[in-house]
This record gives sequence, C-alpha cells and structure tokens, in this order.
Amino acid sequence: MITNLEQGRRGLKANRVDPVRVVIGVDDIHPESSADGVDCGGDLEHGALGLLSRFMERYSRVRFTLFVTPDWRRTGGEHVLQWVSQNKSFRLDLPEYDDFRSLLRRLHSKGAELGLHGLTHLGNDPIKPDREFQGLAFSECLQRINDAIKIIRDSNLPTPTSFVPPAWGTSDGLFSSLASQGMKFVSASYDSIHDEPLSNYKGLRGVSNLVPQEYQGVLNIPRNMNFQTHFFVRRGYEIRLNWSMERIRRIVDAGGIISFAAHIENEYSIFLGNGITRQNMSKFEKILELLEKNYGQVEYRTFSELGEVWLKEREHPQLWTASS
Ligand SMILES: [Zn+2]
Repeated sequence: MITNLEQGRRGLKANRVDPVRVVIGVDDIHPESSADGVDCGGDLEHGALGLLSRFMERYSRVRFTLFVTPDWRRTGGEHVLQWVSQNKSFRLDLPEYDDFRSLLRRLHSKGAELGLHGLTHLGNDPIKPDREFQGLAFSECLQRINDAIKIIRDSNLPTPTSFVPPAWGTSDGLFSSLASQGMKFVSASYDSIHDEPLSNYKGLRGVSNLVPQEYQGVLNIPRNMNFQTHFFVRRGYEIRLNWSMERIRRIVDAGGIISFAAHIENEYSIFLGNGITRQNMSKFEKILELLEKNYGQVEYRTFSELGEVWLKEREHPQLWTASS
C-alpha cells in the first residue's frame, strides 16, 4: 500500500533540501467566543489566540498564518451550544469586535500573516454545507471573494494574499476568481495520511503533496501534516509525536516542505483534534525542538512568504541542486 515520498523527490524535482521549511496554517478564525458556543478567537488573550500570542512571544522565529473567515455563518445546530448564537452575526467589521480586530493586528505585527478562509464558510452543497465554494461558478466565487476582502479592509486589517477554501471545497471558478483579485497563494490540498508524493485526501487531488505547485493561476501550497496531538486518548501523545517526527523525516528526505494544518478550535460540531490547545502547542514545541536538533537550520515562513520565496527561486534555477 505504501509507496514512498522519495519517488516524489525525483518525480517532482523537489530536491532543494536545505534549509528545512515549515509553514503552519490555522483555519476558522472568527470572533465567536466560548460564551457563544466555541472559542474561535473570540476569547481573545484568555483563549486560543492568547495561547498563540504567548507562543509567538517565546518563539519569535516561528511564523503562523491565521486564516480568517470574515462573515462566519453557522452550519447547523449539531453542537450542544450552537443554539446559543445561531442568529448571532460574527461579521468582523461589527463595532463589538473591536478588541478582536486589535488582537489580530497585534498578532500581525508580531509576524503572523492574516490569510482568508472564505466569506461565510457556508455554501449550497446539500451534503457538506461547510464547503462554501464547492462547485460554485466564477461569478459567485468572485462575489464572495470581493465581499470577504471588503470586510477585511473595512476592519482595517491588511489585504490577504493567501487563501484556504473552507472544508477543502473547490471549483475551477474559485481559482480563477482568486487569481483575478490578486490572491496569489492557496492551500487547497490536504493530505496528512498518505505516504505519496501527490495529494490524495482532501481538496485538490493529484497535486504535489511535497512542494508548492502552480495551479490555475495561483500557487498551491500543500498541507501535509496534521497539528493534532492525540485522538481521544492521552497516552497516545508519545505515539503521535513519534509518528509526526517519522513523517517529517520522510517528507524532508523527499525534499518537501513541512506544512501543518491546524484549526483555531479543537471541536466544533465534530471533534477536529488539531486545534490551538495547550496540549497541541506543547507537542508542537517538542516538534520544533526535535526539528532544530535534527536539521539545524529550520526556516519558518508564513504561506505568502514561502510562496514569494518559492516563485523567486523558480526564476533562478541555479539555486537548485541537481537531483540525485
Ligand atoms: Zn474551515
């Protein structure tokens, strides 16, 4: 069943192995608080964003990309507390979210990138309504992207250049509309389970799961690692840590970037497990320690920084070493 990522190194010429590059994307950020149902950033310094903020103070070299949903809508009433705020608007530019916007600005000034994660996170797909852009035509995608960018600007936050499609739901219209609005980078493929050079799990399939790849006018930056510590059982911690380090070794050997997928919340209507929690952050700290011990030079980038570097290096192929 398992082939190896080394094939990917040859096949994809992902042979630039030094330094090891790390990106971390945190999805679903919006002003919902635990009083509303789930802390998706709304608990400010007392909640998940506070954990991130303090982590960034301790490790100023580490870069996070925070993918924000500017007009989050509920996907249903599955969660026990969702009834509390089903009719509440989480639009980022509302006056009551002033503290939330200030915190995002502070995180940005500490080096975090603010990316975009849809407009509402809610689309028309009857089976998976959280796939906002699944199957949408160009004009509908464009409208949503423009509305999202307008809310971000009205919130006095920097205009995003990277994008993650909600619940990995995509359409051709999505990529062309992003490209037309100057959005250069997407992270539209996620495969943290297969040991294959090409993505074959969520979002885009058949694109590189190791390195950025141009796709319909934008650069796709794959996500190939899950930020999760454990699944249900605490004693799984060491097992998952070892499993993560082993996967990292294989990806690095194959010349890939290390690209983590995380959510701001650990649980919403379903158990996500890769949220910004104390336990996940402490595992991540351990991973950083081991990464730097094993590989020495580790380069932490935001998605747009990595994308820019990647595009620049592609123009200068002499920077690339020959494949062995
Ligand atoms: Zn999401």
